Amino acid sequence: MSARHYAIVGAGVAGIEAAAAIRATDADGRITVLTDEGWPYYSRIRIGEVVDGRALPQALALRLPAWYDEQRIALRTGVRVEGIDASAGCLRLAGGEVLGYDALLVATGARPFVPPFAGADLPCVRTLRRMDDAIALRDVVPALRRAVVIGGGLLGLELAVSLAGAGLGVTVVEVADRLLPRQLDPAGGALVRELLGRRGIAFVLAATVTGLRPDGAGAVVDLADGQALPADLVLVSAGVRPVTELAAGAGAQVARGIVVDDRLATSLPGVFAAGDCAEHRGELYGIWPASGEQGKAVGRAMAGAPVTYAGTVRSATLKVSDIGVFTMGRTGDDDGAVQADRTGDDYRRLVRDAEGRLVGATLVGSLAERRAILVAMMAGKPYPA
Ligand SMILES: Cc1cc2nc3c(=O)[nH]c(=O)nc-3n(C[C@H](O)[C@H](O)[C@H](O)COP(=O)(O)OP(=O)(O)OC[C@H]3O[C@@H](n4cnc5c(N)ncnc54)[C@H](O)[C@@H]3O)c2cc1C
Repeated sequence: MSARHYAIVGAGVAGIEAAAAIRATDADGRITVLTDEGWPYYSRIRIGEVVDGRALPQALALRLPAWYDEQRIALRTGVRVEGIDASAGCLRLAGGEVLGYDALLVATGARPFVPPFAGADLPCVRTLRRMDDAIALRDVVPALRRAVVIGGGLLGLELAVSLAGAGLGVTVVEVADRLLPRQLDPAGGALVRELLGRRGIAFVLAATVTGLRPDGAGAVVDLADGQALPADLVLVSAGVRPVTELAAGAGAQVARGIVVDDRLATSLPGVFAAGDCAEHRGELYGIWPASGEQGKAVGRAMAGAPVTYAGTVRSATLKVSDIGVFTMGRTGDDDGAVQADRTGDDYRRLVRDAEGRLVGATLVGSLAERRAILVAMMAGKPYPA
């Protein structure tokens, strides 16, 4: 029997972890990874460092070129997959090439969501998702003075710090009444605001953007309360949407993401999905650790190993200059008994269930306890021990 051919669309963490897991399970199969980006697998979570010059693009590569050869993974960069024919088992690539497969992984990730306000298409409006976005921003920011970041979530704050580090005056506009509304309670959000404020970043909270007006090469950002914020650059960080159209076009079931079962299989025979594009048990994770875990699991499943992926415990870490933010598990007020304390610039909030087990944690400031908390929570143990 000839070796199976595994095709993977997307060379992000889900696609590459899957390729490695396939190779670990099937020594003989042929593996092809296709990406429309011009870069081999890199740390997407670090591209903010390219914007302010802390890192060169090539320094973000996560695998040496030799690794692909050793693993016998054919990586094809700069190749866009335009269609899937699941009944024939083949892909249609840009330029007309047809590539057959025995098992296919769709690991197409997510793209930034830009709310449809007036002026969203102005040239000064940018998003940051791909290496090329970061390089383009790096090349324009030295000539700019003022930036408005729309969105005060984890990514928006990280980008605000990158832009401030590049020398711009930065204002963050957030629709909620506090920063990191998905992760932090009001006290935690207030501390983050205080710490970033000391670094010169300004905030407008509970703010609704009504539209952008052109202003020279930049724009004026209009808010519902009448404020008008002039900006040379408007960076939109208002969440992401799964890239589903490739799978949907082939007839796969798509809800908010591409629907997968506990083997990460889609509704189409021989077609799997993992990472930011996938919806598992109703969850869209949109975070690196979940995409990596799904990639590992789906690679094994594609190669025929028994796999049950039961979900990933959510955790998020923000590390900008010396300000740390870490959240894990349940962080709502109704999730259990809450213990919150602030010491100087450090804030800690722990959530415990009825048995005293740690089920949620938030740290702002020092992240010294992060590892111990992770271990306790993964093991379902009390904390402190
Ligand atoms: C600046 C930034 C900071 C972040 N920080 C964090 C963080 O601190 N912690 C965290 O957990 N997460 C963070 N994330 C989110 C994290 O990067 C994602 O969850 C993760 O990269 C998803 O991996 P993935 O493999 O599913 O998709 P992606 O990394 O998006 O990779 C998908 C790839 O598929 C390609 N592709 C799509 N369609 C096609 C097609 N038709 N043909 C060919 N190729 C295609 C895409 O171009 C892309 O290269 C951050 C994201 C960004 C942008």
